[in-house]
Amino acid sequence: MDAGLKRELEAKVYAGERLTREDGVALYACDDLAWLGRLAHHRRTELNGDRVMFNVNRHLNLTNVCSASCAYCSFQRKPGEKDAYTMRIDEAVAKAKEMEDEQLTELHIVNGLHPSLPWRYYPKVLRELKAALPNVKLKCFTATEVQWFEKISGLPASAILDELMDAGLESLTGGGAEIFDWEVRQHIVDHECHWEDWSRIHRLAHEKGMKTPATMLYGHIEEPRHRVDHVMRLRELQDETGGFAVFIPLRYQHDFHDSADGKIRNRIQDRTTMAAPAESLKTFAVSRLMFDNVPHVKCFWVMHGLSVAQLSLNFGADDLDGSVVEYKITHDADSYGTPHTMHRDDLLHLIWDAGFQPVERDTRYQVVREYEKAPSLAERRSEPQKIWA
Ligand code: SF4
Repeated sequence: MDAGLKRELEAKVYAGERLTREDGVALYACDDLAWLGRLAHHRRTELNGDRVMFNVNRHLNLTNVCSASCAYCSFQRKPGEKDAYTMRIDEAVAKAKEMEDEQLTELHIVNGLHPSLPWRYYPKVLRELKAALPNVKLKCFTATEVQWFEKISGLPASAILDELMDAGLESLTGGGAEIFDWEVRQHIVDHECHWEDWSRIHRLAHEKGMKTPATMLYGHIEEPRHRVDHVMRLRELQDETGGFAVFIPLRYQHDFHDSADGKIRNRIQDRTTMAAPAESLKTFAVSRLMFDNVPHVKCFWVMHGLSVAQLSLNFGADDLDGSVVEYKITHDADSYGTPHTMHRDDLLHLIWDAGFQPVERDTRYQVVREYEKAPSLAERRSEPQKIWA
């Protein structure tokens, strides 16, 4: 990037001006990572100071049986496959209760599009979970699943959301977004929920008072212009509804190594690499700079490894998600030794060691507890330090 354009973009960021589509593409074309980080960190600090949010959550995938076969997906199984499963409601409740002692605040539930489970199963699971764990917020279902519920129930999304909210739903999840541009989407997404339906369902959720996350799957066959287009669509929707609490760039993963049958299900694996750490940091930085109307940017540490997660806090991210527990969608594709679970204490140390102030949040990004900032690493040099993966 030439020095003149750099100065122009820098001036816009420091003046708080909205960046354009062309600015976004230019930022992705820039290899000066330190400069991108400095701009994004300025913006992040203006919005969130030196606070880093996290939550204590557990992921639950009620079923991995799915009618669709998205090209990048290693999670889905077809009915009858060896490790296909569907949880009984009491099994789901028992799993959720395993974490009661850790003062869990959120259950994060996403699932395959099961071809024969009746619609009634879903609100029933939510009711039972809420009865068993009344203080735990339920963040459940992608817009894709809600559209699937429309199909299997014959009900419109509005009635579906009303019933799910009545059963205890606090928020939708942000998945199913992937990359909205059809040029890319048609090659990777096999279900029927695209931008029109995804945005319709989140708009509806926002109208009903929900705060929802928005995601972007990057680092596969898309180009930077597709990422910018993705962010522009979401930014426009956010101008309209104000309902997105956070943006989450999700790093596309090759098949995880712990699949029980050893099969590779990811059909674009042989023609894709995964985003390198520098590319991930750039994606966090550009996302933070483009989104002038979404308060938080999250680094979902499971997909990036803990070292990149710590660094991302200097590249625009201010949220590290949670303790996670048993994330089945992708895990440790790089074999960096990323753990399956981070307890509250682990997350606190991860944030402290990166030089930030940890703030535990709930699903709506309300503060559960603010922690003191730790003394600097230089002052703690004589203490044994944890080495993060
Ligand atoms: S991404 Fe979701 S909808 Fe697509 S195949 Fe996987 S589980 Fe099914």
